[in-house]
Amino acid sequence: MEFTNKDSFFTKLQAGQGQPFVIAGPCSAETEEQVMQTAVALQQQGVKLFRAGIWKPRSRPNAFEGVGQQGLLWLRRVKQELGLLVTTEVATGRHVEEALKQEVDVLWIGARTTVNPFAVQEIADALQGVRVPVMVKNPVNPDLALWIGAIERIYNTGITDLAAIHRGFSSYDEAKYRNSPLWQIPIELKARYQGMPLIVDPSHIGGKRELIFPLTQKALDLGYDGMMIETHPTPDLALSDAAQQVTPDALKSILARLQVRKATY
Ligand code: PEP
Ligand code: MN
Repeated sequence: MEFTNKDSFFTKLQAGQGQPFVIAGPCSAETEEQVMQTAVALQQQGVKLFRAGIWKPRSRPNAFEGVGQQGLLWLRRVKQELGLLVTTEVATGRHVEEALKQEVDVLWIGARTTVNPFAVQEIADALQGVRVPVMVKNPVNPDLALWIGAIERIYNTGITDLAAIHRGFSSYDEAKYRNSPLWQIPIELKARYQGMPLIVDPSHIGGKRELIFPLTQKALDLGYDGMMIETHPTPDLALSDAAQQVTPDALKSILARLQVRKATY
């Protein structure tokens, strides 16, 4: 597989050469006001790619499952009024079609989808002939082959603007992390696909906002290319992932403390 790192979509998100890029926004789009308020604050910080989940994969029923299609119109407003690029999670072929119809700039495949080759293939089929950047999260379980397989299915559609997101791996034990980082798995992936950006998602690895800084610093020390951090104007009131979201101001101070060091692996 060939990745044209230099001219890739993701390279253009960097604040400067060799600088990691930042993707931020709420776990879920909840209201038009919450989306706009978050996006305005992030735009002022120089964030270029705004994230928000519209269709939310929740472990159990009767939890907030996302605002659905109407949220795409809010993302469109973020694009048009603020000039930000936008990304959302897609889990089915229909999600892909609807997101592309509303000109979502980047799609991501979630951890609960990467585990399922049928679902990934359905997404790949919907992407045939389309040139949209795609980010592939690791599967919920520590299985490098499934992660690679999902990346290959998307690559086989002709899309080379691909990135991998490391969001940690689920375990049954009570642990410090919501999802164990198991750093050796993403590092093995990065070594295999040199030139494909690797993005850390410290929000889902840690599950707690105070773990975002140390996890992101660790990832930068390992040579990661970017980060995706969940950001909400009132995190404790968030309808999903409340404990791990930070305000735009808190994000700003996290970013200011991070040091970009030379990769150590
Ligand atoms: C998310 O990014 O909000 C999300 C649902 O993530 P994951 O697929 O990593 O659980
Ligand atoms: Mn989330």
